[in-house]
Amino acid sequence: MVAWEIGVVFAVAWIVWLTRSLQQQCCRINQRFAEPNDKIVFVISHPDDEAMFFVPSISALAQKHSCFLLCLSHGDYEGLGQIRARELVKSAALLGIPSERVKVLDHPQLQDGPKQIWETQLVAEVIEGFVKEHHIAKVISFDNYGISGHPNHIATSLGVRAFAQLSPHVQCYELMSCSLLRKYISILDIPLSLASFFSTRQPSTIASDSLQPNNNDNRHSTNHPQLRSRHTRREERPHLQHPFSKPPSFLFVSTAFHLSHRVMLEHASQFVWYRRLFVWFSRYAFVNPLRLIDSSRS
Ligand SMILES: [Zn+2]
Repeated sequence: MVAWEIGVVFAVAWIVWLTRSLQQQCCRINQRFAEPNDKIVFVISHPDDEAMFFVPSISALAQKHSCFLLCLSHGDYEGLGQIRARELVKSAALLGIPSERVKVLDHPQLQDGPKQIWETQLVAEVIEGFVKEHHIAKVISFDNYGISGHPNHIATSLGVRAFAQLSPHVQCYELMSCSLLRKYISILDIPLSLASFFSTRQPSTIASDSLQPNNNDNRHSTNHPQLRSRHTRREERPHLQHPFSKPPSFLFVSTAFHLSHRVMLEHASQFVWYRRLFVWFSRYAFVNPLRLIDSSRS
């Protein structure tokens, strides 16, 4: 074996060792995400959002906390709403969320579709009602780009931000969007996300993640008044934040690709070829960077 080949082997071995080491450190930090008795709700827009985007965080948090799923629409864009709602229940069970903790709405003003307008006030009120009913301590949802840019995802994010402003005692987190390139590099994003996560953190803040929201978290959010009705027209969408512009508060990492695949298989009505590709190549099957929403600036 020539020298350069030996060098490559050592470099790969070092990257694997470093990645595993940082991943273990991440797990220790993530234990501070919530108190043992805290209830956590994932607010999604459509059945299958949990499978496409949130598997690393749901699967980790559901092991130690009571997790809930609140799906704001039953995904009836193609007339499959009832089927998709049942698929979501089966998918959630695989992730550790029992059926009694899954709620799928069929609200006339929250219907699935890129041209459907979801009022921010309505979304915030729905979330508030759910949080009060179940005594939820943490809310997790999309950021203001919604990962895929789907208007329903963005409307969900705006509703969560409005709710966060109303209820500062409930901590709300957003799943961070990223550039197109980063989005589809699959498992290769694990070392990149870990390196980015630890290189942008101040050691003194590690012990107080949940208490120190970053004041710049919402620099691209729209300054809409509290619960002001608004639409999420395309021209009103906030700009996508640069993936390195703000570090996440927590980073959930998973190498259980088979779980993402199994969960997506439960959405049989949606498992078309491009969704199969998405599961294979999406970073969100492996990493979930969550950023605390600053409720004072939502
Ligand atoms: Zn969706």
